[in-house]
Amino acid sequence: MKAAVIEQIGQPFVVRDDYELDSPIGREILVDVKASGLCHSDIYVATKELGMPLPLVLGHEVSGVVTEIGPDVTEFRVGDHVVACLAGFCGHCDRCLDGKPNLCRNYPIGTQRKPGEKPRVSLGGQALYQFSEIAGFAEQVLLHENNAVVVPDAVPFPQAALLGCGVTTGAGAAINSAGVRVGDNVAVIGCGGVGLNTLQGAALAGARTIIAIDLQPSKLELAKKFGATHTINPAEVDPVEAVKEITGGGADHAFEVIGGLKKTLEQAIAMLATGGTAYFIGAQPPEATLEIHPDFFLTNKRGLRGVYMGGTNFKRDIPMYAQLYLQGRFNLDDLLSNEISIDEVNEAYKELEKGGIARSVITRF
Ligand SMILES: [Zn+2]
Ligand SMILES: [Zn+2]
Repeated sequence: MKAAVIEQIGQPFVVRDDYELDSPIGREILVDVKASGLCHSDIYVATKELGMPLPLVLGHEVSGVVTEIGPDVTEFRVGDHVVACLAGFCGHCDRCLDGKPNLCRNYPIGTQRKPGEKPRVSLGGQALYQFSEIAGFAEQVLLHENNAVVVPDAVPFPQAALLGCGVTTGAGAAINSAGVRVGDNVAVIGCGGVGLNTLQGAALAGARTIIAIDLQPSKLELAKKFGATHTINPAEVDPVEAVKEITGGGADHAFEVIGGLKKTLEQAIAMLATGGTAYFIGAQPPEATLEIHPDFFLTNKRGLRGVYMGGTNFKRDIPMYAQLYLQGRFNLDDLLSNEISIDEVNEAYKELEKGGIARSVITRF
């Protein structure tokens, strides 16, 4: 079957047709991919020397239909519409039992195949590392039960795919990690696919002031459809001063959703109110550093948190977002910019890097 493959770091995706999956065993499900989103993290992995085993099938924002199930599967039936999520979990450690599967002590061990068992995925007859336990830029995916969840059939596949990462990461940062409350002041630096969801997560949680910050006027315009009450273009004004002025002293929560820029990390910290917290969501290169005076935490009573996958409990969160979407209370339609074929992945990533669009999704193989 077809898959978009990274054969060398820094080189374009190559579409190969000698990608193969094994049949499901144990608690695994085989899924026909109907939509696979292009996330920034994939291109980050494709272009940075992170020590990932090559060749590599990336992609981790997948929706599709279950076509086959392993003998021990209890949660899924053939024909179910599902969304994959890389935030898997074991289900029996103390963290999982405490309702925090995102902090699971065992994952991915226990959900992967054991040494000696046939590999789940292969390319040209050679065993392949399964990226994020998903490897979603392919016609089918073979998943453990704890890396997928059923969603209502009524959610279109491209919209459903976005629930797997961008939505969960962005909205979850506001709802789960920050615990935004009614009346809070929120600022979001970077209004791409994830940042837009942080805005609407904050809106859903009842934030009073929701400030979108981005250099691109088109993204700021889009941000208004996701609950932004104010927009700031740092090309025109100092975002730190502007946030302080709008909020009357600073943000309770400032989210950095760009990654790779020291300046925006520092801005997120500087725009906080006393007692506020900055959240770092964007990926940072291995060499990145940040200097913070300890008084930032002590006298200024501020906090700093890293957010990974929006602190999601995805078996709870993804069906919840799907339901809110069907009720017209959660915007997924405006996140989608483009439906493409697997042969167009390189061009679509170039567009994404330019920053003008929200999300391209592969829907044709
Ligand atoms: Zn666990
Ligand atoms: Zn992602």
